[in-house]
Amino acid sequence: MGGTFDPIHHGHLVAASEVQSLFELDEVVFVPTGQPWQKADRQVSNAEDRYLMTVVATASNPRFTVSRVDIDRDGPTYTIDTLRDLRTQHPEAELFFITGADALAQILSWKDAEELFELAQFIGVTRPGYVLTEDGLPADRVHLQEVPAMAISSTDCRDRVGDGEPVWYLVPDGVVQYINKHQLYAVEESRASH
Ligand code: ATP
Ligand code: MG
Repeated sequence: MGGTFDPIHHGHLVAASEVQSLFELDEVVFVPTGQPWQKADRQVSNAEDRYLMTVVATASNPRFTVSRVDIDRDGPTYTIDTLRDLRTQHPEAELFFITGADALAQILSWKDAEELFELAQFIGVTRPGYVLTEDGLPADRVHLQEVPAMAISSTDCRDRVGDGEPVWYLVPDGVVQYINKHQLYAVEESRASH
């Protein structure tokens, strides 16, 4: 499961758990992106912090693991590189790349799409009623899966922290504590004063 995870939240975890169960996956590998080129317009938190929050959030689930392949590779993250690295590490595995349907629509419009489909199947998690409009996608390699609990986003979690509002129960407890300990998404002076 690829994502920025800035921070990881219960929407990601529910989606991963749901897909693991429905597709009978042995393992869900969370792969925090390196410097995400899609989000070049905003400052993304340090990769090590995003990685560690992902480790904290997934530690209690025996089927969840976290990979450093994208954060240890220099330059922007491209899904084709992620899949090649995971393929090298797990030569026998049948790979499924899980991400949000919004991100999936972008990924599948890339020129490498043919090779992407050879490396993995793709699962786009959606809120109820979402329709992926791309035509010509191979139906045997691309799946859309509705998941519960979609009304959480990392953007909202960051905004809440910045505004001094709680993120308890939106993200795992350990992630709340990590954010506090490392002063991520810190309250700006001007906001803190009122
Ligand atoms: P941001 O608000 O910064 O874009 P995000 O909440 O979308 O963050 P990402 O790290 O970008 O989180 O998420 C990785 C993938 O998980 C994305 O493709 C996204 O669509 C999907 N996703 C995000 N939130 C949810 C959710 N609540 N339920 C299911 N999937 C989600
Ligand atoms: Mg997003």
